[in-house]
Amino acid sequence: NPALTQIGAQMSNLTGVRAIMKDIIETLRGGAGQQFINLSAGNPLILPEVEQLWRDCTAQLLSSPEYGEVVCRYGSSQGYAPFVEAIANDFNKRYGLNLSDRNILITPGSQTLYFYAANTFGGYTPSGELKQIVLPLSPDYTGYGGVCLVPKALKAYKPTLDIDAAAHRFKYRPDFSQLTITEKTGCVLFSRPCNPTGNVLTDDEVKKIAALAAPYNLPVLIDSAYAPPFPALNFTEMTPVFGDNILHCMSLSKAGLPGERIGIAIGDEKWIEVLECFQANISLHSSRYGQAIAAYAINSGGLVEISHTVIRPFYQNKFTVLETSLEQAMPKNLPWFLHRGEGAIFAWLWLQDLPISDWEFYQQLKQVGVIIVPGSSFFPGLEEEWAHKHQCFRISLTGSDEEIATAMQRLAKVAEEAYKGA
Ligand code: PLP
Repeated sequence: NPALTQIGAQMSNLTGVRAIMKDIIETLRGGAGQQFINLSAGNPLILPEVEQLWRDCTAQLLSSPEYGEVVCRYGSSQGYAPFVEAIANDFNKRYGLNLSDRNILITPGSQTLYFYAANTFGGYTPSGELKQIVLPLSPDYTGYGGVCLVPKALKAYKPTLDIDAAAHRFKYRPDFSQLTITEKTGCVLFSRPCNPTGNVLTDDEVKKIAALAAPYNLPVLIDSAYAPPFPALNFTEMTPVFGDNILHCMSLSKAGLPGERIGIAIGDEKWIEVLECFQANISLHSSRYGQAIAAYAINSGGLVEISHTVIRPFYQNKFTVLETSLEQAMPKNLPWFLHRGEGAIFAWLWLQDLPISDWEFYQQLKQVGVIIVPGSSFFPGLEEEWAHKHQCFRISLTGSDEEIATAMQRLAKVAEEAYKGA
């Protein structure tokens, strides 16, 4: 390896789930003819109606005089103006807001946005004080693990668990008796709906977190990659929460455009402006082609429509298949708990007091041709030991119905053996 700086070395490490993905890719490649049911993917499926929407918008762009302006010219760091305007108009109408273009920033994917924010608000101040990036409810999105150039700035809080033992269901809640936001906090960040758990923090919980942060003039970033109005991957009622100290962050990746890398931040002008400068330094601006076609899809109402009629029912249905298969296959006496499926494209399974680690369980499941993701990589910023971290699994809803059902039957057998061996 070449000589690397501290940041170079840090950034060349694979963090969180990326490290496991490497093992999965090698497994799939080296399978010696073995067929795997791969329920590890974070990649959404290509749904034909969604692909068609983007094809149609592309055709529209190609036949428009706008085309040259979109791909042959540099633009502003803030984003492609017609797209920014489309977002402002849509959100003002839909949620009764009063956004101007100064409240919106477009980034190359929302991951980039979290990188800008984590390093703008988290890390060392000029006077050497460490500002924390608070994740109020752990587990949360594994990608937060690598976003801060000062990794120790990331501080996650253990949740409380609402357990419905008879139903084999549970739900995480923020633990407000522990959660602390102080002058040492630089920003707050969480996903809603949550990857990996499918949890949706209630409107009240979100407002309570925002209120805790309000006295400190710091942003609360709500990662809405799965939220309404698009891709609307919420299976329970939820309203996006806006407010003076909230940065509402979105992504078009789960609405069929992950390859185009489009992230959107909506919030107070003073924060949008600093993030825009950060972006100008790093990348000048985000690619404009995806923004241009997205502007069509938003202005026509097509994107919202397809989110509600195609994307949401597709994954909600998959969750039902998974839930039903687990209920049929899992021995009733085992302490298994499925997180309430309130949104996103994953199921989250907790095997309480599992006698082996999540990593060992993952390996055993591979032996029977099923790949899911061990849960311990979804607790970025939570340093303390907690047995629960090694008892959970993320199961992607991107398989076919048959694959999901078969995988849950095999998982039930492996679980039964694992508890028996204890
Ligand atoms: N946030 C959450 C919760 C995600 O699940 C993902 C991707 O899986 C991202 C952010 C990053 O998405 P993108 O950079 O494609 O917008």
